[in-house]
Amino acid sequence: MDLQDKIIERLLDKKADLSCPICRASQVITRQNSFVDIPIKDQQDGEVTNIRCMYMTCSKCGYISLFDAKVALS
Ligand SMILES: [Zn+2]
Repeated sequence: MDLQDKIIERLLDKKADLSCPICRASQVITRQNSFVDIPIKDQQDGEVTNIRCMYMTCSKCGYISLFDAKVALS
């Protein structure tokens, strides 16, 4: 089981609704290595923190949802 599978399993454990918020399709897909680092810059001290996110794409409408991998796994 890879990290994506673990995150999805964990989200389902937490009763997350993984259907698409736009078209309500229940089919969302992940690609292999569907992780991106999002740089978040603190407005006060200018420090940049990278947040590792997993993205899922709706196979029907293309909407992309992002999950903070650390929070999703906790
Ligand atoms: Zn959709």
